[in-house]
Amino acid sequence: GPFPIYLSGAVQKGFGRGGKDLGCPTANLPDDALPQMVDVTPPGVYFGYAQISARTSDAQVDGPSSGTLDEEQIKVHPMVMSLGWNPFYKNKKLTAEIHIMHPFNADFYGHEMRAIVLGYIRPELDYTSREDLIEDIETDKRVALKSLVRPDYQKFAHDKHFDLAL
Ligand code: ADP
Ligand code: MG
Repeated sequence: GPFPIYLSGAVQKGFGRGGKDLGCPTANLPDDALPQMVDVTPPGVYFGYAQISARTSDAQVDGPSSGTLDEEQIKVHPMVMSLGWNPFYKNKKLTAEIHIMHPFNADFYGHEMRAIVLGYIRPELDYTSREDLIEDIETDKRVALKSLVRPDYQKFAHDKHFDLAL
């Protein structure tokens, strides 16, 4: 299979499509972080690990930046990622949005984000109700956490991809 897939880039401002309202903020990777992924994987929901650097990267950022993160926040955490068609590019480009399963007390736009995608959970669905969507996100998180318990996956939490210069 295509996994593991290594991704990195400065966290971009998204469309604010209600990630936070749904209790599920998603940090966007820049477009150029994705070419590797598009060729090998379909749109949908994925799981893996992610890490945020304590400081903002030098890369250009469209949107507000933020302060420093504490020691807990810059650890490697489980994540769920949505890979979806981007309406801004007439659905010709894919966008990767990562929800990190850890409470952050501040935004981290502009910070370097590293991720390792380890598996596919499900295709993207059209939701008729907000409740159904929220329920599926909760299921995705449980599936991710359960999968990541396996030692074959856990070793990626210690991958050198996450040796960020903090
Ligand atoms: P946007 O449309 O800008 O992506 P969101 O509502 O999806 O807006 O919020 C995403 C932002 O929230 C991230 O870029 C990040 O700065 C912040 N954030 C806070 N906690 C998390 C988290 N657990 N996972 C992902 N992003 C988070
Ligand atoms: Mg988002």
